[in-house]
Amino acid sequence: MADSDTLTTALRDLIWANHILHNHGVVDAYGHVSIRHPTDSSVYIMCGYMAPAMVSSPSDLIHYHVSSSDPVDPNAKKGYSERFIHGEIFRRFPSVNCVVHSHAEEVLPYVVSTQVPMRAVYHMAGFMGSKSVKVFDIDPHYRLEDQRDMLIRNARFGVALAAEFGGGEKPEETVVLMRRHGFTCVAENLVTAVYRAIYTRINAEVQTKALTIARLSGGDEVNGQGEFEGLTDGQGEGCKIMCETYQDKPWRLWVKEVERNPLYDNTLSPGLLRLRTGNS
Ligand SMILES: [Zn+2]
Repeated sequence: MADSDTLTTALRDLIWANHILHNHGVVDAYGHVSIRHPTDSSVYIMCGYMAPAMVSSPSDLIHYHVSSSDPVDPNAKKGYSERFIHGEIFRRFPSVNCVVHSHAEEVLPYVVSTQVPMRAVYHMAGFMGSKSVKVFDIDPHYRLEDQRDMLIRNARFGVALAAEFGGGEKPEETVVLMRRHGFTCVAENLVTAVYRAIYTRINAEVQTKALTIARLSGGDEVNGQGEFEGLTDGQGEGCKIMCETYQDKPWRLWVKEVERNPLYDNTLSPGLLRLRTGNS
């Protein structure tokens, strides 16, 4: 495939990812997804200052230098203040090619509570492993002059968040929660990152319901460990492999869903072109 075709395909998928994450409640007007440029690893791409559902064409996307999170085009339109989440993760981890950041409300209890950690509670969340999901706290990184709004609005905060993922060239964590804010997940490719973001949200919802029924049934010790069983080490690894083997199936469904929903517009989508010309 020529470089230009590779880029067009990547941009098409990135626009779909924006729509899919909105359609599945991972992002609302806030939250964002980025990819590393498919043929230039020193650049990453994400949409400009707009709600993810409204992204529709390559002109809505901004290319940034991984090294600085400055736009490649000095005249680029306004971008996200939190692009440093993406830039610093891409800078630290050469193996990461997609980053999703979300404030999904199902996850929020686990970034507020200091009592109940989030854990993978069912097979679709095997990518979280078997331990408690790490929580990044921005507060110790604030200086006197900083506006304490929890946003990752500069490289210093981005570096600190990226460090929470641990590991060397490859991050140890696939998802990190952000205290009083949301979560960020990473992957080697876009489909895996979208899948992880969606199932992080669903896992949080399931865990909350499991804790609720445990309490209603007389559980008296809510510590995230006793009232339900998270995945074991072996189960986490096995489920991770299983889900990544079959993630192409939900991806095709998710694309179809957003292609048929008139809220979303993707000028690079062949399906949309067919619908518009009446050729199906
Ligand atoms: Zn945020």
